Amino acid sequence: LIIPDFQGFCGEIKKIYEDLKKVKGGKNADYIPQLSRVNPNYLGVSVCTVDGQRCSFGDTDIPFCIQSCSKALNYAINVAEHGPGFVHKFLGKEPSGVGFNQIGLDKNGLPHNPMINPGAISCCSVLKKDESLADRFDYATNEYKKMAGEEFIGFSNATFLSEKSEADRNFAIGYYLKEHNVFPENCSLFETLDLYFQLCSVEATADSASVISATLANGGVCPTTKEVCVTADSVRNTLSLMYSCGMYDYSGEWAFEVGLPAKSGVAGSIFIVVPGVMGICVWSPPLDELGNSYRGILFAKMLIKKFAFHQFDTV
Ligand code: GLU
Repeated sequence: LIIPDFQGFCGEIKKIYEDLKKVKGGKNADYIPQLSRVNPNYLGVSVCTVDGQRCSFGDTDIPFCIQSCSKALNYAINVAEHGPGFVHKFLGKEPSGVGFNQIGLDKNGLPHNPMINPGAISCCSVLKKDESLADRFDYATNEYKKMAGEEFIGFSNATFLSEKSEADRNFAIGYYLKEHNVFPENCSLFETLDLYFQLCSVEATADSASVISATLANGGVCPTTKEVCVTADSVRNTLSLMYSCGMYDYSGEWAFEVGLPAKSGVAGSIFIVVPGVMGICVWSPPLDELGNSYRGILFAKMLIKKFAFHQFDTV
């Protein structure tokens, strides 16, 4: 067993959960009505180890939109499908140092990385680019579902529709990328943005998302179904970029304080990967000023205080 005293470990996670339950702070994202209306008291913490041991506390079976967490998954399946050489013709590997929805390119004229909007939109332009939009959506969500061990993956059409109608900035980014010839040939900007909005509107639960994180922790093999989902190379690339770029403008601080690959989304989820050990999902809708889940960040700090999971704790 990867965690010999799993019972004891779960007891510690439960204590963190109970402490967090008392904490108030942050504010739901409000640029989309569907996100602002979610009960801010929801708090779920789920753990799945690479050998399939599970524990969960709180609201771990309530669907939420994965939002930007989809960016990490889209990159992973893209690299597994098309290879890193091809995917990185369209995006870079460098933290941008600016907000997730800033318009701009790196020194090579490419979006900085796949974890923030320009790179994520570029990533969507590449994903199974020669197929119909319907097949591309099916493909991506089937891959998510495989990574989630066939557990809950849903879709919020209301979120998709309001995402799309509040999307001036993302359209501006899209046109900017198009102007700078970032997209593959014959790419439809509208289809690319539709796919991007749709994949942001995919739902998971903390339970199913913990299995996704555990699949990444396990080199791309789902720990509960043993299915091979994404290649080990793709996982290595994905975790590297989650480590350096996954937490918006807190990424550097997160790498320093927490030292784990993670990706956060505006609906308040954080997918956390302890490589070779476990996947974690913490979900609590209110966000801090940088757009990360207020209680999610606290969770990670408390976790790292109790356990030597920081990547450099053991050196
Ligand atoms: N739907 C969001 C947007 O592009 C993604 C936000 C996020 O989770 O960072 O505006």
